[in-house]
Amino acid sequence: MSLTCPHADLHCHSTFSDGTLTPAALAARAKANGVTLWALTDHDEIAGLAQARDAAHAQGLDFLTGVEISVSFANTTVHIVGLGFDADNEALRQGLHGVRHNRGPRAKEMGQQLAAAGIPNAYEGALQYVGNPALISRTHFARYLVEIGACKDTYEVFKNYLVEGKPGYVPQRWASLEEAVRWINEAGGVAVIAHPARYNFSPLEEYAFFSSFKSYGGQAVEVVTGSHSVHEYPHYADLAREFGFAASRGSDFHSPEESKTDLGQLPADPADMTGVWELLSQRIHKASAAST
Ligand code: AMP
Ligand code: MN
Ligand code: MN
Ligand code: MN
Repeated sequence: MSLTCPHADLHCHSTFSDGTLTPAALAARAKANGVTLWALTDHDEIAGLAQARDAAHAQGLDFLTGVEISVSFANTTVHIVGLGFDADNEALRQGLHGVRHNRGPRAKEMGQQLAAAGIPNAYEGALQYVGNPALISRTHFARYLVEIGACKDTYEVFKNYLVEGKPGYVPQRWASLEEAVRWINEAGGVAVIAHPARYNFSPLEEYAFFSSFKSYGGQAVEVVTGSHSVHEYPHYADLAREFGFAASRGSDFHSPEESKTDLGQLPADPADMTGVWELLSQRIHKASAAST
């Protein structure tokens, strides 16, 4: 990275989705870990961004708006991060509202399935962990399953429950890829493929996914992320070069107790990558401007 390159962490979650820290606590942790450019990217939700921006500026951090949108593509759930958009954009707000809409009924059905598998009251148990009722997620169920001793940690939960073929899995239609990219672009932001190594696509399917994303106007991909292992970085750096995508980076931090990668604790990007912040220089809320 060049000397002017920010220490960026552009992917994490707060109590407004499935993280356990408030936006203010995340901003303080990012600062303590040396981050200089920060974005909050809650799942399908931008209600935490006002608090996050204020907290970022109180900590002297440059800030980008962010969101991680749940998308259904080729019978798989994929995640598209949006960065640097106008959070007051009505089409984006309405779109995200629609994506959140089915989480409540889905969660009740998850609870029924788990009851049938011998784990009663999981819906009520999960609700205890929810900071934002619109955003009940599998993570909240996972915390409850750990609490009652059904699994030793959340990693074990996502092997034995809540995933396809296991109790508590309820398939969901999220946004389409085209919609998610359009909402972000129309709100002036940049769309980013989140943690592509997580999707279990074949090489051909992965190529089709990247091609579709580009054709809809997507411009970036996460290369260095807490959701990838180090040996997966070079492949996505190669795909970024091939597709002409900028590189984004982020810890995907959720919780001090659960996350393997802390805020800001990521290796540098490959030296030749274009950082996604270079596409967003006009959209960064500068800490220095906030104090004047
Ligand atoms: P949902 O949006 O309700 O389907 O929940 C998805 C969330 O569950 C992700 O954002 C992660 O936080 C968590 N999750 C999914 N798969 C795993 C996994 N294998 N290990 C740990 N957490 C996971
Ligand atoms: Mn999550
Ligand atoms: Mn994700
Ligand atoms: Mn995430």
